[in-house]
Amino acid sequence: MASSYKNSYKRIFSMLKEHNKWFENSIPLIASENVPSPAVKEAMLSDFGNRYAEGWPGERVYAGCIYIDKVEFECMKLAKTLFKAEFADVRPISGVIANLAVYCGFTNPGDVMLAPSIPAGGHISHGKKEHSGTAGLVHGLDIEFYPFDAEEMAIDVDKTKNKIEELKNSNRLPKMAMFGGSLFLFPHPVKELTDFLKSYNIHINYDAAHVAGLIAGGQFQDPLREGADTMTMSTHKTLFGPQGGLVLGFEKHADVIKKAIFPGLTSSHHIHHMAAKAITFAEALEFGKDYAKQVIKNAKALAEALSDFGFKVLGEKRGFTKSHQIAVNVLDYSDGGKVEADLEKANIIVNRQLGVSEITRLGMKEAEMRDVASFIKQVVIEKRDPKKLAPEIKLFRKSYQKVHYCFDKKLGAYEYVKLR
Ligand SMILES: *Cc1c(COP(=O)(O)O)cnc(C)c1O
Repeated sequence: MASSYKNSYKRIFSMLKEHNKWFENSIPLIASENVPSPAVKEAMLSDFGNRYAEGWPGERVYAGCIYIDKVEFECMKLAKTLFKAEFADVRPISGVIANLAVYCGFTNPGDVMLAPSIPAGGHISHGKKEHSGTAGLVHGLDIEFYPFDAEEMAIDVDKTKNKIEELKNSNRLPKMAMFGGSLFLFPHPVKELTDFLKSYNIHINYDAAHVAGLIAGGQFQDPLREGADTMTMSTHKTLFGPQGGLVLGFEKHADVIKKAIFPGLTSSHHIHHMAAKAITFAEALEFGKDYAKQVIKNAKALAEALSDFGFKVLGEKRGFTKSHQIAVNVLDYSDGGKVEADLEKANIIVNRQLGVSEITRLGMKEAEMRDVASFIKQVVIEKRDPKKLAPEIKLFRKSYQKVHYCFDKKLGAYEYVKLR
């Protein structure tokens, strides 16, 4: 009789396979996700993933890093070229760790940070202690929110200036201004606020977790040219790499950032993911502009189609979106949770907002966005049985099984690789 451990072992592999199969037949619309190339997956399987390389390449605390160092130097060089940055630290293991590194490097516990609230698109890593937000809970920052105009889906520049002056008058001048977020339809007013923030010596960080791929492709805003001192990001959202983080900035801040990341916040920096980031940066340098352009066209096309079908798409006054995201108010039809669950039964995977990064990477263009909008309409507005729709979606997906915008596409996007 097989041991129960062997049964667990087998069950786990069968779940992994089922998951891949499911995604092969689905429409993945989660804005924070993407699908990496076969090359990125290959790098993630390498022996780098079993090694330590604490410290800076060339100055490691461990032996055995000859090839790791060469790859990490190349990785930093590619990151700096891609984002036109003087300095890059490719070691943060996630976007949250990248943010923590700038909090640790440029603020002290008790300092005030200005950040977008969650309804204004902010991320929990910018959040207050009472919400278990990373900035408040882990680094003791005192968070104040930007005044936000919900109609325009924009940070209000004049009200922000007033707020900073009021905070100064009550001896709570912010030490850091955080831009960027998770619901992110339009560029943030970095350019508009830089002179004002600099006049108060406020450190400007731009969290590009969601829009890094659009910035890399030159199709969103360019925070480091607009006045941001540092830029943090995840490497796996619109930037189509492995799960990981990155901090960019200027040479004058290099030491502070390096120390915050090691020894401050990492020991192992997940070296296989570092190698995979290097591959991603090369892909983004080669294909990133075309990709970012198509992402933005697709988002706009999907937003317009949904609006034509009667959905309330946010940001209408400003043309719905200038990013990879679309926000839809579905309260006329049902609550958000029910809509999400119904769509999942039809194999349309969404959360609070829709994102087109992954379906664009699969090769879909504007015409397919109308099809996607129509599938969503059939479930949410026409209340068609989602189970009946799933086979139609499977058929629709047949022509989009490869990852585009990369050098090598032999392996299917969700093809399961068995090594045993
Ligand atoms: C996703 C996200 C993060 C967190 O990134 P992880 O890589 O998941 O740690 C940070 N900031 C913003 C704005 C995000 O959207």
